[in-house]
Amino acid sequence: MKIVGIVGAGQMGAGIAQVSAQGGIRVLLSDVSEEVAARGKAGIVRQLDRLVEKDKITAAARDEAARLIEPIGALDAMAEADIVIEAATEREAVKRAIFENIGRVLGQDAILASNTSSISITRLAQAAPDPARFIGMHFFNPVPLMALLELIRGLGTGDRAVEVAEAFGRAVGKTTIVAADRPGFVVNRILLPLINEACFAAGEGLASIPDIDAGMKLGAGHPMGPLTLADLIGLDTVLEILRVFQADFGDPKYRPAPILMKLVEAGWLGRKTKRGFYDYTGETPVPVRI
Ligand code: NAD
Repeated sequence: MKIVGIVGAGQMGAGIAQVSAQGGIRVLLSDVSEEVAARGKAGIVRQLDRLVEKDKITAAARDEAARLIEPIGALDAMAEADIVIEAATEREAVKRAIFENIGRVLGQDAILASNTSSISITRLAQAAPDPARFIGMHFFNPVPLMALLELIRGLGTGDRAVEVAEAFGRAVGKTTIVAADRPGFVVNRILLPLINEACFAAGEGLASIPDIDAGMKLGAGHPMGPLTLADLIGLDTVLEILRVFQADFGDPKYRPAPILMKLVEAGWLGRKTKRGFYDYTGETPVPVRI
């Protein structure tokens, strides 16, 4: 694994580029323009600077990682890549157009991957040059800190694509798990119903909001309570994912908790709007009255 192409230099693409370069892999980083890709690289260099300040990496390691990241304007350069990972905006039409363009230049043996959180890999593969060489590679945010990489096998994904993606995961220091192509894959499939159940519990007054969070932290060993986590993810995102599960599986067990819908209706979306299950306007979060 020598060269990775990354399409989309936002939050996730930049994180994937950073861990790739730190793993010694050359990165071709693209976005809607070379300028935007260069901005993505500048952000990565700032992250690397912070790691140097905290004594996590040496200045030489930062310089080497930065040297390996090359912002590019046209996708033609991706012809050199062993693997291309798409981490662009979560819109199917955007991703399909990218795969069609990449298809014109992708090497004969190269693997094409998508970091999508919610779109079917089997369906996206239809826009890829070769479904056997197409796979889901779902990284977690923030990429440099989260140890997991979920690999998603579309119906047509070949064994070699899985092997190459696993090797890439190892090279960038991630542990991989392989999931079938179903909504939510493994982690969100299990995490979202847990968060939803916590919302039901809060809504029916089973315990106070802080007690539900404390219960799961102290009794189940979770690093943060489910309602705090819901606020962090964004309550609108939580609701949207549950609705996808409900529609795609047709199973009423995924119906969103009424309090979740109510908070979203109020525009209380969690941390990003400074109010969700907690109010974040003060020094410490205060539970809201529901
Ligand atoms: P983001 O908005 O931070 O970045 C998306 C980037 O894609 C932007 O820089 C945008 O300019 C670029 N882009 C848009 N259209 C493009 C095109 N045609 N060609 C090239 N680049 C284009 O979003 P993000 O949070 O980094 O999410 C990217 C992908 O990762 C999405 O599919 C998302 O579902 C997935 N994902 C996100 C998270 C998360 O927590 N944010 C976690 C796992 C997976």
